[in-house]
Amino acid sequence: MIVSVASGKGGTGKTLVATSLALSLKGKYNVQLLDCDVEEPNDHVFLKPAFTHSEAVSIPIPKVDEEKCTYCGKCAEVCAYNAIAVMKQKVLVFPELCHGCGACSYLCPERAISEVGNEIGVIETGYADGLDFIHGKMAIGEAMAPPIIRQVKEHASHQGTVIIDVSPGTSCPVVEAVKDSDFCLLVTEPTPFGLNDLILAVATVKELNIPCGVILNRAGVGDGKTEEYCQKESIPILLTIPLNTEIAGFYSRGIPLVEGLPQWKSSFLELFDKIGEIVNERSSDTER
Ligand code: SF4
Ligand code: SF4
Repeated sequence: MIVSVASGKGGTGKTLVATSLALSLKGKYNVQLLDCDVEEPNDHVFLKPAFTHSEAVSIPIPKVDEEKCTYCGKCAEVCAYNAIAVMKQKVLVFPELCHGCGACSYLCPERAISEVGNEIGVIETGYADGLDFIHGKMAIGEAMAPPIIRQVKEHASHQGTVIIDVSPGTSCPVVEAVKDSDFCLLVTEPTPFGLNDLILAVATVKELNIPCGVILNRAGVGDGKTEEYCQKESIPILLTIPLNTEIAGFYSRGIPLVEGLPQWKSSFLELFDKIGEIVNERSSDTER
């Protein structure tokens, strides 16, 4: 089963949930944690894994042979990302905008475009106390997260349980990380900002046809509007984590919740059981 952990906005406690869920399941299940928040991965800060392998992530970007180029402008016309521009006697490529789709080289009538690899990030794999751990890191100055996320997800085991830590928000990297999940946990806090971004995140996972549930972090602040919204939309609140200085203290020191306060482990195991029930119910409904 693949469970992604997402949030409409940053700073809601997504890392706390992803790491504690994975640590609670290890030993009982075969678990992998994939940190797909490639712009700012920080699960490793909590898990302190020993990395055993690293691999570069590259995308093919165009290289123009100006001897062959007739400056016809076709490559710039087909590029949906404005990553290539044709001047009177010059073709300019902007690697940071290029998605490596290959359309320009395919359609160049003079065969003047070849492709060269542009390194945009790195994948590191290893182990953290019996847990399989994989994360992707985007290179500084790069902006193309989806190819790195795809490569991280290629390491996902097809047996056992995979927990995916997703970047915050609702943009392309989120869709890339969440798609193909069996379930998506949405971590939020009960504030107006939290609710606003939760509504956007719910819309995204609904569009992907993935069942979801909410984890209410820092519960105790707010006005009950998040709970009202979840009830109205029939979205289950699967776990509530209170606003608590002890929990915040462990988090600020890079200690996973279930290590600092092991009594939380049973709550995360119960959470996983509830997810399993929802996923099973849904697949039986689909079979009917
Ligand atoms: S399509 Fe080919 S020939 Fe035309 S401007 Fe681009 S590189 Fe030059
Ligand atoms: S490979 Fe695709 S994105 Fe990159 S410059 Fe060519 S057409 Fe544009």
